[in-house]
Amino acid sequence: MNKALVLDGIEKAYNHGQPNEISVLRGASAEIEAGEIVGLIAPSGAGKSTLLHIAGLLDVADRGSVEIGGQAVTRASDRERTAARRGMVGFVYQFHHLLPEFSASENIVLPQLAHGIPADAAQARAEDLLGRVGLAARVNHRPAELSGGEQQRVAFCRALANQPALLLADEPTGNLDPATSDTVFDVLMELVRGTGLSALIATHNHALAARMDRILRLEDGVLTAA
Ligand code: ADP
Repeated sequence: MNKALVLDGIEKAYNHGQPNEISVLRGASAEIEAGEIVGLIAPSGAGKSTLLHIAGLLDVADRGSVEIGGQAVTRASDRERTAARRGMVGFVYQFHHLLPEFSASENIVLPQLAHGIPADAAQARAEDLLGRVGLAARVNHRPAELSGGEQQRVAFCRALANQPALLLADEPTGNLDPATSDTVFDVLMELVRGTGLSALIATHNHALAARMDRILRLEDGVLTAA
């Protein structure tokens, strides 16, 4: 079985060659097995977002390699990376980033159309996913007509729209009040477990992290088991 994610010796600095050069990642390595849910804990500024963006093919490392679902993507062209990102990685941010002028289901349909899925199948998948997160009655609502927790649940569905190998989440419930955060996190865990997806989920919340299969800590530019 292919590993969902292999990061090997990832290095990343900002402001290369300038007095304010900052070396954020200094050889970060990790492997995530298929079906595994891994928590990522890091002090603020440690490079958590940088790492997730590199793992999610939104940014490029200075050194080291990235493999997603058994596919080496380190030296892929921009076009290949975009295609790989669309088909293999689902990303959830702290803020939902849904498109405001589109309904909940349209927000889930659009990435599927961009990936070549026929409209009927894309709509059926959007409605199925929304049903799984308890939003069957919100299919035609726009983001502004949904609560913060509901918006985030739609964002989870959008991340899973193209049946990725890997879900990357950057403090997915960090913007919600504690009670809503717990409920929405339950929904995310059920969705991930129910689809057999692998996930790397960054959180400051140790109680949430404890519910994952294992925890990685990012400190001083490297990943260690916590
Ligand atoms: P975290 O998500 O753990 O808070 P980030 O990955 O966002 O950390 O940032 C890690 C460090 O890199 C921070 O010190 C931040 O200021 C710096 N940084 C992030 N992005 C850039 C950038 N585009 N240019 C320069 N410095 C950056």
